[in-house]
Amino acid sequence: MVDFIGIARIQELVARRGAARFIEELAGEIEADFLRWSAFDKSPRHATHSPLGVIELMPASDGRLYAFKYVNGHPKNTAVGLLTVTAFGVLADVQTGYPLLLAELTLTTALRTAATSALAARRMARPDSRVMALIGNGAQSEFQTIAFHHMLGIREVRLYDTDAGATAKLEHNLARLQLPELRVLRCGSSAEAVQGADIVTTVTADKRNATILTSQMIAAGVHLNAVGGDCPGKTELHPDILRRADVRVVVEYEPQSRIEGEIQQMSAAFPVIELAALLAGQAPGRGSDREVTIFDSVGFALEDFSSLRYLLRIHHEERGAQQQIDLLPDLEDPKDLFALLLPEPLQLSARPGVAA
Ligand code: NAD
Repeated sequence: MVDFIGIARIQELVARRGAARFIEELAGEIEADFLRWSAFDKSPRHATHSPLGVIELMPASDGRLYAFKYVNGHPKNTAVGLLTVTAFGVLADVQTGYPLLLAELTLTTALRTAATSALAARRMARPDSRVMALIGNGAQSEFQTIAFHHMLGIREVRLYDTDAGATAKLEHNLARLQLPELRVLRCGSSAEAVQGADIVTTVTADKRNATILTSQMIAAGVHLNAVGGDCPGKTELHPDILRRADVRVVVEYEPQSRIEGEIQQMSAAFPVIELAALLAGQAPGRGSDREVTIFDSVGFALEDFSSLRYLLRIHHEERGAQQQIDLLPDLEDPKDLFALLLPEPLQLSARPGVAA
């Protein structure tokens, strides 16, 4: 039997802790794994592109555990009532190759993406950052707001989305969370949202080189948390932002981010810092109060590895709807797989015409 975490169980696990604490714990797991960066077998994810989207496989292993995530990105899905991003994943034991856990990762991706953004911002944003612009108010946006409010001390979010309905949904959900120390402001444009912001999070979905932000919109000292550009030909920042003299860019895993991140718009020599070096204190997140810092997030398999291991642990710790599924055969003789397909031996008593 294999442990299974579906939507009902993840709802239960997050509810037990509250989303803010869940994200902070997850951030701790992710940070701990980035601090042992060299222990991991890493590769850029495998992406299968189609006109409307992408389907990706994301593996990572530390030699003891192995994880992969299946994830899609289809920005037009919401128009037909489907999510832009869905995901599930597996955690397996390297020694036997047996899966240990099959888990939903749609909610978990939103939680871990917010956790990773906040981890980077803690080392890159100015410590006095209190105001965040949030451009793109879809599925990921509440998670980003909670992470930055809880882990960075953001006290005001300035919202903008081309779809006013998405912003109204986000406002409604944040009101239901009753965060008395968080002021929520709706803005009429990206330009208005970034005014006075210390941090700008872009988390839009559009399969093209979009220009959500231009260099003129970005004041000195701002931290950009650029989450929505995560595929070849799918970016959010005008390249002039990256060309600024006062810019510092952190990426998760350089070989993957060169293909998928905002930095795909720059030459292969464009300097970047890997998140692992930032978290290990080998490279500073910011050189001065006037520098523009960018976390060029695309999502890396290690974050899902950490998430799956964390999920399995709390799944075992927390009582409730602990489910297992019969994904694997359980055999008396492992060489006799065919036994599962043989008819049950007939009971003598059940044979017609034979006395028991
Ligand atoms: P979503 O479709 O639910 O929301 C995206 C929102 O962006 C929509 O409300 C849409 O109206 C808005 N939008 C599109 N163009 C815009 C523009 N020009 N200005 C303002 N708003 C605009 O998608 P989601 O699940 O919230 O994901 C958002 C993005 O984040 C996607 O591109 C996804 O691929 C990416 N993502 C990245 C990571 C990561 O690890 N970096 C993880 C998950 C999702």
